[in-house]
Amino acid sequence: MNAPLPSKVIHAGQQRNELSERLAREVQGEILFGRGDRGRYATDASIYQADPIGVLVPKTFDDVRAAASICAELRAPFVARGGGTSQCGQTVGPALILDNSKYLNRVIDFDREAMTVTVEPGIVLDHLNAWLKPHGVWFPVDVSTSAQCTLGGMAGNNSCGSRSIQYGNMVHNVLAIDALLADGAEGRFGPLSTMPTDQTRLAAIVRRLQEIAVREHDEIARTVPKVLRRVGGYNLDIFNPQSERPYTPDNSPNLAHLLVGSEGTLAITRLLTLQLAPLPTHKMLGVVNFPTFYQAMDMAQHIVKLGPVAVELVDRTMIDLARNNPAFGPTIERALIDEPQAVLLVEFAGTTQDEQAARLRQLVELMGDLGLPNSVVEMPEPAAQQALWSVRKAGLNIMMSMRGDGKPVSFIEDCAVPLEHLAEYTSRLTEIFHKHGTSGTWYAHASVGTLHVRPILDMRTDGAAKMRAIAEEASAMVREYKGAFSGEHGDGLVRSEWVSWQFGPRLTQAFEDIKDLFDPQGLMNPGKIVRSPKMDETSLFRFKPTYQVLPLEPALDWSAWNVTGNAAAQTTSAPGTGNDPAHGFAKAIEMCNNNGHCRKFDAGTMCPSYRVTHDEQHLTRGRANTLRLALSGQMGPDAFTSDEVHQTLDLCVSCKGCKRECPTGVDMAKMKIEFLYQWQKQHGLRLKDKLIATMPRWAPWAARLPWLFNLRDTLPGAAWLSERLLGLSARRSLPQWRGDTFLATAHSDHTKDADVVLFADTFNNYLESENARAALTVLEAAGYKVHIARADSQDTQKDRPLCCGRTYLSAGLIDEAKAEARRVVQALRPFISRGVPIVGLEPSCLLSLRDEFLVMGLGEDASSLARLSFLFEEFLEREHAAGTLHLALKPLPQKKALLHGHCHQKAFDAVKPVQTVLGLIPELNVGLIESSCCGMAGSFGYEASHYDVSMQMAELSLLPAVRKAETDTLLVADGTSCRHQIADGAGRQAEHVACVLARALA
Ligand SMILES: Cc1cc2nc3c(=O)[nH]c(=O)nc-3n(C[C@H](O)[C@H](O)[C@H](O)COP(=O)(O)OP(=O)(O)OC[C@H]3O[C@@H](n4cnc5c(N)ncnc54)[C@H](O)[C@@H]3O)c2cc1C
Ligand code: SF4
Ligand code: SF4
Repeated sequence: MNAPLPSKVIHAGQQRNELSERLAREVQGEILFGRGDRGRYATDASIYQADPIGVLVPKTFDDVRAAASICAELRAPFVARGGGTSQCGQTVGPALILDNSKYLNRVIDFDREAMTVTVEPGIVLDHLNAWLKPHGVWFPVDVSTSAQCTLGGMAGNNSCGSRSIQYGNMVHNVLAIDALLADGAEGRFGPLSTMPTDQTRLAAIVRRLQEIAVREHDEIARTVPKVLRRVGGYNLDIFNPQSERPYTPDNSPNLAHLLVGSEGTLAITRLLTLQLAPLPTHKMLGVVNFPTFYQAMDMAQHIVKLGPVAVELVDRTMIDLARNNPAFGPTIERALIDEPQAVLLVEFAGTTQDEQAARLRQLVELMGDLGLPNSVVEMPEPAAQQALWSVRKAGLNIMMSMRGDGKPVSFIEDCAVPLEHLAEYTSRLTEIFHKHGTSGTWYAHASVGTLHVRPILDMRTDGAAKMRAIAEEASAMVREYKGAFSGEHGDGLVRSEWVSWQFGPRLTQAFEDIKDLFDPQGLMNPGKIVRSPKMDETSLFRFKPTYQVLPLEPALDWSAWNVTGNAAAQTTSAPGTGNDPAHGFAKAIEMCNNNGHCRKFDAGTMCPSYRVTHDEQHLTRGRANTLRLALSGQMGPDAFTSDEVHQTLDLCVSCKGCKRECPTGVDMAKMKIEFLYQWQKQHGLRLKDKLIATMPRWAPWAARLPWLFNLRDTLPGAAWLSERLLGLSARRSLPQWRGDTFLATAHSDHTKDADVVLFADTFNNYLESENARAALTVLEAAGYKVHIARADSQDTQKDRPLCCGRTYLSAGLIDEAKAEARRVVQALRPFISRGVPIVGLEPSCLLSLRDEFLVMGLGEDASSLARLSFLFEEFLEREHAAGTLHLALKPLPQKKALLHGHCHQKAFDAVKPVQTVLGLIPELNVGLIESSCCGMAGSFGYEASHYDVSMQMAELSLLPAVRKAETDTLLVADGTSCRHQIADGAGRQAEHVACVLARALA
């Protein structure tokens, strides 16, 4: 029986008001009921969207208890949520969303001997495993979203990792769940032998469950798929085990396993007790090359018999994508023999090296026996293995970054079939895709018969109809092969309707009985697993057929996103042909598919503001969702330039971390520039923003009267006044102006015969001219004829230094930034035409020549300029690699250097060159600080309203690492604001790499 979600009742404003008032009185957590907040929790990584009643971010589990009780009184549904990375719409619904990820994320108990750990539901898997690592154990359900998904969500979905053939799914690794029921009862769900048998509610539930299981004994045996990867419906088979891998060692029932995979529809998890595994100490990887995709699929069944922990597929499309990527090309080449149509990554892992090596040899022999001798590339080295696994991940990311309205849609992405049918299943499904005018790329878990594939569909047009047609044909095959329709990602909105298809009417009724037993009012995550809407209920789509973008004239060129995709050929139309009323800006925003990778914490840069606040609002995903909702009119007619959107972008430090690290390439820094442009057109600029933006214009005056402009930091009360009048934090010193600017004092004008052009940005010209001087010295010492970039003689402002426009961009003054960019292009045209490299020092300035200049409509010259623009260290590294760098360097008194990379250097993969050129200094040991943004980020950290957040960002890793460094360690940071933050926060002086090299000149 299907029933629509109770959206009409729930959306009654009165209920929303009453709920938020009651919560405000009775809980301590954050109550988020505004339009923007609701919008940010209206989606997960699925195709669905529903406006929630509101959001509660509970501070303690008492808050959850109180909220559940209020909801019960008001008959308001509620949904527990972790990272919101579900692909099937599990966390989407018109309900009160309880976001456990911010506060309910502690490790509560750890027993090394018993190899168990008890955690709160909001803890992220990677955090837990980092915590466990020193103890030599891990929680081995290694899902791809490990950096952002929570244990509560993993249990909710019965998640499965790449190594499930070895370790099983969540259901095989959860020992107990302490849970809250809809009526306020609480208890521990664990082994049947430990469950109460008295008159309590829990005991009554257990008795009734046993009755249902006895009643359905034969039906369970008849309909529950026997495969390992089956996550649909409720795990009623705990009482009559069907999985090919027992849920418990002796097949005895564990009541926690009924809650695993129940998607928050039966109970709210308070604590999870998990079984841990020893960390494998030795790994071997064998890459099997196949001449046909079919053979790869066909032979997986034989390979798994060797006992690998993972057998993962990379198909031809992904091989090609990786080959064409400069970062991954060499790695994938190392794994290939000739031109395979697919490779299988076969990993063996355990505690002894010899055992894994023997298994790898067996793999080689097996492939010979199967008629594919010399098809295995052996990879015993951990570094090579890791590099190859990252290629597999990157391939998926590139696939997900397809532009245009057609997107790879997840709905049959994790059907599981027995391995002997895998080859036939994949080739038949590929034919079905072609029949419906689409295609898909295959990847992932060949070991367990769960291959991921997402046909490309446009949900705004004919996507829904094709989705149903493909799902029906795929399901018929799954039935034929006795597989599972839902093999990894759960049921949610996209697959709950298939529960009755998979399990038949009797078990569907049994599931409804179970739901009613636990949650008689139907308030816990309604519409999931039982009594669900149809998968193609278009009113629940994020991109409904009625979805419309409001017209907008962007100032930057977004036409690269304004394309239409050809789903069958996986190609896109020419830039600018995509019919986006916002000329590509909306389509760029819509690239966010909500996979939540921006919630990761430990590695990379993205997203520094979220790392400090842990708020969905201050997350790349939260920002993209807000922009999308505003630009599609879903937050009201003028929402795009509203305060709400402004606040959502306020803590974005424009670090470009997302540009590089977001799997779909969401570039929020660029979007913020466009937004600020639209914002300031409507609201104007604050005095402070105007002052900072126009700095390149008044800087010449400051250089003439530095004592006057520096009074702010010397005159008593001036700093205080600058905070009151301008909003510049009194707790900050400002950069000091000086008379000896670089351009006024440096001479090296090889206009006609220059080998290299030195571009001195505003900061390195006026404020830290020693850096530019050092760069000039080093370049000249290396024998280059250097031209110092100056304004063209035809320039109407020829006496004013060139400027990349960065300060204007930070305020959204795109027209002014374009004017500066034109001056740069005009001045450098003679060098561009001769192919002379342009070298700059400040990452955020120089790299805008490779980034923002390309979307300013500056023509072909800008593209050539981008190709010729290098950071100082990139240029030297390039010359060194070519064997043309002749730089004599001597050892320095300091033997250690510690490097902090500027965010834009990281975004353009330009940190390594700094390490390389520092490494040219004899005897210098160069270390890298694993840091995100320093928190200063241009003018961001100078603003009083951002001071605290700025310092918190710095304290995450940068400042502690700097403080730990010995006093004679050289600190290197190429960003002017990074150096200032290090000085402010740690009292240490960092310097530009150019200064270090200049001192080391022999
Ligand atoms: C790119 C990508 C790759 C993925 N790869 C994998 C993969 O390799 N393997 C895999 O299994 N999945 C994968 N997934 C799906 C998803 O990431 C996992 O299912 C993940 O475990 C969900 O965790 P979460 O914290 O985001 O949960 P959420 O999405 O927030 O919630 C998941 C479910 O759990 C429920 N829930 C959350 N907290 C509680 C609680 N305290 N009490 C009761 N119920 C609760 C929710 O209501 C919901 O029904 C992938 C998703 C994406 C986007
Ligand atoms: S911004 Fe990028 S990383 Fe974040 S959810 Fe969206 S697509 Fe994923
Ligand atoms: S630019 Fe940086 S701060 Fe802004 S959303 Fe992207 S990662 Fe976050």
